[in-house]
Amino acid sequence: MTARILVSACLLGRPVRYNGSAKPLIHPALARWQTEGRVVSICPELTAGFSVPRPPAEIAAGRSGEDVLTGGAQVIEQGGADVTALYLVGARAALALAQAENCRFALLIDGSPSCGSSFIHNGDFDGTVHKGSGVTAALLRAHDIEVFAPAEIERMELMIEAAR
Ligand code: SF4
Repeated sequence: MTARILVSACLLGRPVRYNGSAKPLIHPALARWQTEGRVVSICPELTAGFSVPRPPAEIAAGRSGEDVLTGGAQVIEQGGADVTALYLVGARAALALAQAENCRFALLIDGSPSCGSSFIHNGDFDGTVHKGSGVTAALLRAHDIEVFAPAEIERMELMIEAAR
């Protein structure tokens, strides 16, 4: 069966980021996967009920999405609101969609407390990033879905071709 690919909605050009922007990824592999009908779009934060625009949020205290999944870290909005529960709702919705749509791979934007797949912000809202995953990326990986950042799309392309 052809593997499908879960993709962050903002990478597909949807203006769903906290500040109302998109971060479209222009790459021939992504364009081809869309033409082939293999792309499944999701914004975990909108799915969880957040609106656009919304306050930025970060995983606090330099922790990561894996820590959030085990109850060892919180997602905090700039301003102090604890939005951890909604981030978990979004992550579970993304996993349910990926499983329902037979997505064995995910291409998620980097730096986000939901979708970040190789780096995230440290919780101080000062632009500092560290190696780690957002909550959705961590949950997908925990269920054997291969998650890639945009910078890894060539490696992802090779893996998907090998899995055909
Ligand atoms: S949750 Fe993911 S898809 Fe939605 S705006 Fe943030 S990075 Fe993009």
